[in-house]
Amino acid sequence: MVVEKGYLCSGASGRNGGGVRAQFSSETNVRLMQESLRICRDFAAEMKINVWFRQGGYLFLVRSADSERNLVASVAVQNDCGHPTRLLTPGEAKRIVPELSTEGVVAAAYNPNDAVVFPWPFVWGYAKAAQSLGVRVRTFTEVTGFRTHGKKILGVLTSQGEIQTNRVVNACGAWSPEVARMLGVELPNRPHRHEICSTEPLKPWLTPLVADLSNGLYFSQSTRGEIVGGISNHDVPDGIDMESSAKFLSLYSSALIRTVPKLGALKVLRQWAGCYDLTPDQNPIVGQVDEVEEFHQASGFMGHGFMMAPVMGKLLASHLAGDVDLPLFERWNLRRFKEGRLLTESMIIG
Ligand SMILES: Cc1cc2nc3c(=O)[nH]c(=O)nc-3n(C[C@H](O)[C@H](O)[C@H](O)COP(=O)(O)OP(=O)(O)OC[C@H]3O[C@@H](n4cnc5c(N)ncnc54)[C@H](O)[C@@H]3O)c2cc1C
Repeated sequence: MVVEKGYLCSGASGRNGGGVRAQFSSETNVRLMQESLRICRDFAAEMKINVWFRQGGYLFLVRSADSERNLVASVAVQNDCGHPTRLLTPGEAKRIVPELSTEGVVAAAYNPNDAVVFPWPFVWGYAKAAQSLGVRVRTFTEVTGFRTHGKKILGVLTSQGEIQTNRVVNACGAWSPEVARMLGVELPNRPHRHEICSTEPLKPWLTPLVADLSNGLYFSQSTRGEIVGGISNHDVPDGIDMESSAKFLSLYSSALIRTVPKLGALKVLRQWAGCYDLTPDQNPIVGQVDEVEEFHQASGFMGHGFMMAPVMGKLLASHLAGDVDLPLFERWNLRRFKEGRLLTESMIIG
């Protein structure tokens, strides 16, 4: 059973940019995302819903020698994994996006296999297909507590009554720490507002999603022609907050116009926000916790959890069914923070 306190897509999964890429710095993330890309490509046929999968690639830009060194290392990891990313000079990047201003750009990386999907039908497609297999999806049902006996869960208390179960997966994104706390489990995740906007439609001109690792700017063109994008704003305090701000528009538009000067006259039609679910080492928290039996986590997916969800959902489901006991669930376990086993990932947007 899936329990959701709002409507499907009310959380970050209905508010994101739909970017799906395997350009990461760690081998784990590259390999997981190669599988996610495959699932996304076949999703429409398998789930019988159009998710507007558009494989235009991702073009990453860097603006410092340090970032260039990280990018070179990441590209090598990706190529070793069979994700054929090319390291480009600014001039070569301009051949992929001729409208790009490369002033200040020192290097770029391009992979044509990365993609963008439309998040809403993706979530609806999963929900419908799961329901057809017997999964119950309860929307507008808020988890308010748990009934326990010692370290055992006996039931989940919700705004619509109790659900009897001994096993729970906490996949509440930025709200995961709140829910974990109901069982006395402390997660180190921090919710952080991230804003995004969409413009009037233009005729198709932009093939890849462009991402600038120096400031977290990213933008892509949807199949409807809108430019959809966002940028990091580190001045926003931590907390659940999904308000829109004028500050974001000014940060985003300055960075966008610096990158593609021709977009200066473009009109923004819609602006919204969601919560990133940040962890101290920029990697998720997945798997069983020590404090409570059968209390599994799947949270802390930063700004790339939508793309991770297809593969992680599959792996976690097999794990719960007893089929696989992957080292990944140990590597990404909550206890790594206590044990000081922090991980790294440098290709983060946001
Ligand atoms: C603006 C923006 C752009 C992004 N761009 C991308 C991108 O391009 N690509 C990408 O891969 N990722 C992107 N992300 C990140 C991505 O959206 C998230 O990592 C991902 O959606 C997290 O999924 P989730 O299921 O963990 O959390 P969510 O989708 O937030 O789902 C958690 C759900 O739990 C529910 N909930 C909370 N508390 C309770 C309770 N007590 N009882 C019942 N239900 C509860 C919430 O209502 C919510 O719907 C972006 C995020 C934002 C905000």
